[in-house]
Amino acid sequence: MKKRTFLKTTGIVIGGMPFLLNSFTNKKGLPKYWVWLRPSLKTTDSEWVDIFKKLKESGVQAVLPQIYSSSSALFEIEGYTVQDRWLERIIPIAQKEGIEIHAWMWTMICNDSKMLEEHPDYYVVNRKGESAATSPAYVGYYKFLCPRRPEVRAYVQHRVKTLASIPGLSGVHLDYVRMPDVILAEGLQPKYNIVQDKEYPEYDYCYCDYCRSEYKKKSGIDPMEIEDPENDADWYQFRYDAVNDMVNNFLVPEARSRGKKITAAVFPNWESVRQQWHKWDLDGFLPMLYHKFYNAEYQWIGEEVVKAKDRLQNDKPVYAGMFIPHLKGNELVLAYEDAKSKGADGFALFAHGNLKDEDYVMLKKMTK
Ligand SMILES: [Zn+2]
Repeated sequence: MKKRTFLKTTGIVIGGMPFLLNSFTNKKGLPKYWVWLRPSLKTTDSEWVDIFKKLKESGVQAVLPQIYSSSSALFEIEGYTVQDRWLERIIPIAQKEGIEIHAWMWTMICNDSKMLEEHPDYYVVNRKGESAATSPAYVGYYKFLCPRRPEVRAYVQHRVKTLASIPGLSGVHLDYVRMPDVILAEGLQPKYNIVQDKEYPEYDYCYCDYCRSEYKKKSGIDPMEIEDPENDADWYQFRYDAVNDMVNNFLVPEARSRGKKITAAVFPNWESVRQQWHKWDLDGFLPMLYHKFYNAEYQWIGEEVVKAKDRLQNDKPVYAGMFIPHLKGNELVLAYEDAKSKGADGFALFAHGNLKDEDYVMLKKMTK
């Protein structure tokens, strides 16, 4: 599990200094140290240079900028509201500073007004028959598309294809590649003033017409008639497979055919979000191990890395996703050291905006 065969001879020269790649990338050619970042369009190019320099000096190798958050895009793409061609502009700036850019996109959530107006039928439907297009669970933006519908798969595939065509981009990073949480992380339930001791129909998806008819074709059963859906293994797997098939057969090939890596931000409580990610053919996994949402201490991060590796049953890298506001004092270092000792291939931090000066000092230690 821990075996790593590094590139032994690859070296490139940056600014006259020999810069060996061998200690910085794993055998899958992926970086080890990542940071998610929500770009501000007010930041100037020279400020971006400073941001990337500071990250690089701290050992960070890859930045995941959020370039699509379900309503407008920060890159050129047909059929979308394009706010700015920010991604295309920033890639060469980051590259010059030795930072890889992996485009972080929301996958299944869609708040695009055109889509909501023209295709409300593309959205997931809960067991009460309510569409996420008009009655989203928990929060107003929880408008998920149905991952089984062919039109939806083509729509998301087109976005991955467009991103993967951007020169210099290192990879595509999938977020919200799942269904709405049927059960929220226990630490979050009080925030929404709900108790989810079992799967309730208002949070249980997808019972859209398409999913119902496809399941009926396969099994002879209308899922709406299933008495105990929480304990129906076939119906459960059918929902997992809706997401699995979309990722493996539509998104992964699109990224790979253009020589890009493809990764995802994934859940430790994967069952609750219909996210059987250990079946996905990605290049690497960035589980969001945000311990306080699960009422846990930082040691839980390492425990979840162990579970992830056990479920994957392959040598795909797993990066410990850590939530900076949950880590006090030197807990960032302690949590990562612990996770690394339990098999983490690196870390991913949420998020750049949360990093304080003292965190950069810790990052240097963690990446040494
Ligand atoms: Zn559906």
